[in-house]
Amino acid sequence: MRLRAGASTDIGRVRTRNEDSYLAEDPLFVVADGMGGHRGGNVASALTVDTIREARPPWDPTGGALVDAVRRANRVVHERSASDSELRGMGTTVTLLQTSGGAGLIAHVGDSRAYLARGRELRQLTHDHTLVQQMVDEGKLSPEEAGRHPARNIITRSLGLDEDVDVDELSIELRPDDRVLLCTDGLTAMLEVEEIRQVLDAEPDAQGAADTLVALAVERGGEDNVTVIVVDVEEGETEADPVNAGTVAAVTAGTAGTATTVATRTRPADAKAMIERAEARAEASGPAPEPSAAPSPPRAFRWRRLAVWTASLAAVVAVALTGVRVYVDRQWYVGVEGGRVAVFNGIPAHPLGLTLSRVEIVSDVPAAAAERLQPWSGLAAGITADDRASAEAIVQQIRADVGAAGPASPGST
Ligand code: CA
Repeated sequence: MRLRAGASTDIGRVRTRNEDSYLAEDPLFVVADGMGGHRGGNVASALTVDTIREARPPWDPTGGALVDAVRRANRVVHERSASDSELRGMGTTVTLLQTSGGAGLIAHVGDSRAYLARGRELRQLTHDHTLVQQMVDEGKLSPEEAGRHPARNIITRSLGLDEDVDVDELSIELRPDDRVLLCTDGLTAMLEVEEIRQVLDAEPDAQGAADTLVALAVERGGEDNVTVIVVDVEEGETEADPVNAGTVAAVTAGTAGTATTVATRTRPADAKAMIERAEARAEASGPAPEPSAAPSPPRAFRWRRLAVWTASLAAVVAVALTGVRVYVDRQWYVGVEGGRVAVFNGIPAHPLGLTLSRVEIVSDVPAAAAERLQPWSGLAAGITADDRASAEAIVQQIRADVGAAGPASPGST
């Protein structure tokens, strides 16, 4: 088995700098999407790519070595952030693929993604660490709603913010003609998964596919930096392939924390032709197979109040960091504190690892008794309320329901 990779990145049409970094050096492929004021985003993503590259994780089928490399990158970013006031609070996502023969390992933190294209199916391998994904998992949002959600950029896990980080890791079997896609959210925010699938299906060349995807995301508005790596698995011997290894340059940090500017590989003039070519190929290649996306959780939009919260969460995005605390202080929810039903001021989420709530009232109602009742089974995740009085009313309702249900009995859910 051997690999052929293509990589492409673009600043997009809105941002003033490209904070994405990537590495495509067989057998290691990394995308990182940095965030943070001033130069922070560039530095965080470039430091991460650099650290993982220098760590040269040995092949370890358990994934331990790869996870260690990511955790090392986390420490490096965190320490730099702590020691340089201009870089304070910077962070980055990271999604990487390491291969050995027919085996692949994926490590992942944040909202960049890895997909596996096999035949004409495209399967998402990674699970976004975002607020909206959490809500999808809890059945509070459909995947479609999540894709359009104004708060979709809020990530719940990233590198650099804490001394240590949880790293998702999974292993995959690689077969000839498989294609692995690594991308930052600048791609998935601009294109539907089905469109990505069509381009991958229609464009046989790895570099061509990467270029086309990036061009298409920019064409659609390019609201964010976009970075794509396409790794094709081919039958045959692993060989030193100087052309392949040489064409895809790593984006790395220079000395003293100055990130090198990311070269734009796709010229706008080429984009249109590439897109037309891809569309023509997609048309010629016939109808799409059944969607193969992960199964959708039920649309149990149980809490009417959550809709209010969801809508007003747009404010988080709109007002940027200065306004977040003001917004959060006006939010209320009912959750669990010390095993009791409690009222909180704030929101039941931890974007960027921040705690955005504080306990206001701890009731005498045992949380376990409430959670046994179907309407309150989501208590631990937080039941949002319009204001303090509404939150207290919810507690009263829970108290009444628990009382009516009588003493705890198994199977009373
Ligand atoms: Ca991004």
